[in-house]
Amino acid sequence: MAAYEATLEYAHSQDQTDILFPFRERFLFPQHQGRDVIYFCGNSLGLQPKSVEYLMNCELRDWAKYGVEGHFRAGYPWVSYHRIFSERLAKIVGAGKDEVVAMNTLTVNLHLLMLSFYRPTEKRFKILMEAGAFPSDQYAVETQVRMHGFDPEEAIVEITPSEGRHTIEDIDIINGIKEVGDHLALVILGGVNYYTGQFFDLEAITKAAHSVGAYCGYDLAHAVGNIPLKLHDWNVDFACWCSYKYLNSGPGGVGGVYIHERYGNDPTFLRLAGWWGNEEKTRFKMEKGFIPQKGAASWQMSNAPVFNMVAHNASLDIYDKAGMQALREKSIRLTGYMEFLLKQITHLDFQIITPEEPSRRGCQLSLLFGENGRDIFEFLTECGVIADWREPNVIRIAPVPLYNTFEDCYRFYELLMATGKNDEM
Ligand SMILES: *Cc1c(COP(=O)(O)O)cnc(C)c1O
Repeated sequence: MAAYEATLEYAHSQDQTDILFPFRERFLFPQHQGRDVIYFCGNSLGLQPKSVEYLMNCELRDWAKYGVEGHFRAGYPWVSYHRIFSERLAKIVGAGKDEVVAMNTLTVNLHLLMLSFYRPTEKRFKILMEAGAFPSDQYAVETQVRMHGFDPEEAIVEITPSEGRHTIEDIDIINGIKEVGDHLALVILGGVNYYTGQFFDLEAITKAAHSVGAYCGYDLAHAVGNIPLKLHDWNVDFACWCSYKYLNSGPGGVGGVYIHERYGNDPTFLRLAGWWGNEEKTRFKMEKGFIPQKGAASWQMSNAPVFNMVAHNASLDIYDKAGMQALREKSIRLTGYMEFLLKQITHLDFQIITPEEPSRRGCQLSLLFGENGRDIFEFLTECGVIADWREPNVIRIAPVPLYNTFEDCYRFYELLMATGKNDEM
């Protein structure tokens, strides 16, 4: 592999030989002064696939044309709409197709899964998580603990980065799990931390959790579609994610869950039920007595929100064509290039707090600024860069392999180089 170069010619040459380059054409880019913005915010809200409009119109047409009969006669019959995602989602997260289902939204699913997997007893009631988890996850865990009559102060064990560091060592999590031991009911972590971009060793952490008799589940909001996963082989108990970040399925788009088949196929394993999770052949008999269907789909409660799933269908098609492996290969090079360029910049006060090893991160880099980070962020915004600001002083950028280019990285670098030389910044 040739070494990187900080020139536009080099960036162009990389784009020209990139087999995924044509995928950019499948997305709609916000415009800034007549050209595409430099969009580095796919970790927050992915771009709209051009095919969404057509697919949305198909559903509107089928609804108009068939009314209630659309449940069976629509192009994608609504009665089984959730099933069109299973195979494609299974490939993205590394699971059997019955181990995944698209339903609800992320925090809701986190609660539903915790109702099944967090069943504290007087002795075993603790939950281990990372310090600085996404607030929604913190609130979910805190209120679940209270709901069961425990004190969050006592029940929640947080693993923090060691003194002077920004990221957490996997070994510290594993040691933490062993320390809590018999008292540990559940480990719940963000697979990729939203703030630092750190990817955890999910296999080793799962193994450690199981070794003390605890369940282990992950919030994969920042991992899904970003890093190839092998949830089944890693023996993960459960996971959930949203689809509007890397999966480009639109604001508030349908979430997804993974539940290992040993629970999904065990009808005695407790879950809160609705009619859509019931076995299909008796669903419309409208009788007493919930009989769960096979797999994760039995956690479904309501019938599928079709209009909230159309973009998911469009986007998963694109993922399927690109392939997670090819995306990951490009991602490592693209983020590596961004990192290389950032390291050429010596006149600005910032450091990259995302781990350096590609195996410990996805595409996102988090830049922690010492001072005037906010001014730099605003300057970038005025120049047509869409990045993301996190208090107190972090700019997150996510070069996404589906639609970002080496040229995007170079242009971003060029703008940062200009900031020092422009007093009006
Ligand atoms: C984005 C994100 C969420 C958002 O939750 P919603 O229920 O989809 O609003 C939750 N957790 C993490 C870790 C996230 O990154």
